[in-house]
Amino acid sequence: MIRKGMKLYSILFGACPKCHQESMYVEKNPYILSDTLAMNDHCSHCKTKYRMEPSFFYGSMYVSYAVSVAFAVAAFVISYLIFESSRTVAFISIVITLIVFMPVIMRLARNIWINLFMSYDKELVRKSSRVVSKS
Ligand SMILES: [Zn+2]
Repeated sequence: MIRKGMKLYSILFGACPKCHQESMYVEKNPYILSDTLAMNDHCSHCKTKYRMEPSFFYGSMYVSYAVSVAFAVAAFVISYLIFESSRTVAFISIVITLIVFMPVIMRLARNIWINLFMSYDKELVRKSSRVVSKS
């Protein structure tokens, strides 16, 4: 199963890429559209700064394209090949899928992007939990 310490955990749940202890996002629900991309400045457990440099997350646009294509292919396979719909209906289902899942796609892209540059750090987790338990 997916558990803390796996890269997939941080990607799917938007957890801090270094300690997996908390969400990077201010609002957990991506469908609250005003806060879809609102992120905390740093992790309150391990103090990792999420925006490593100015405009860091612009790079996630490339990832967003790939994730969108994956969602579109999935929608096409489900409607055209499994439900044997017409090509027009398959096209409409792709458009609807991309609109409905847009907040999820944007967050997944950011999570994948930041996880390309940071990895889970056991030492850091141990150190930061020690600091928390002392105070
Ligand atoms: Zn952290």
